[in-house]
Amino acid sequence: MIKGSCLCRNVTYDISGDVGDIVHCHCITCRKAHGAAFSSVASVPLINFQLTGEEKLSSFESSPGKVRHFCGNCGTQIYAIREGASHIILRLGSLDDDITSKEISHIWTSQKANWYSINKELTEHLESD
Ligand SMILES: [Zn+2]
Ligand SMILES: [Zn+2]
Repeated sequence: MIKGSCLCRNVTYDISGDVGDIVHCHCITCRKAHGAAFSSVASVPLINFQLTGEEKLSSFESSPGKVRHFCGNCGTQIYAIREGASHIILRLGSLDDDITSKEISHIWTSQKANWYSINKELTEHLESD
């Protein structure tokens, strides 16, 4: 079982089975929704995704038929789903547990922020700097 939650922990979920391959989405709606350079996502079959706390769950239809679900209290993006789809698009930043999925691609780079470079080697810091 893989667990996830929002920042204020009002929204919580369990995933049974595996999380799909990881994609980093640079589209403008992901950038706005997440307040970030891109959104890291993976597919999870709807039947394997179980909300265990959803009182504060809110949603926004960001494009026709695509609904983004997030915590209405703290704002954490949790998942998106397309109308009629049998899988959700999980927002990986909301995971509490490690996963074994592999990164496979960057998508919507035509809308990438001009201040972010995908392949630039930057120094890494274990904490803030
Ligand atoms: Zn929350
Ligand atoms: Zn996107």
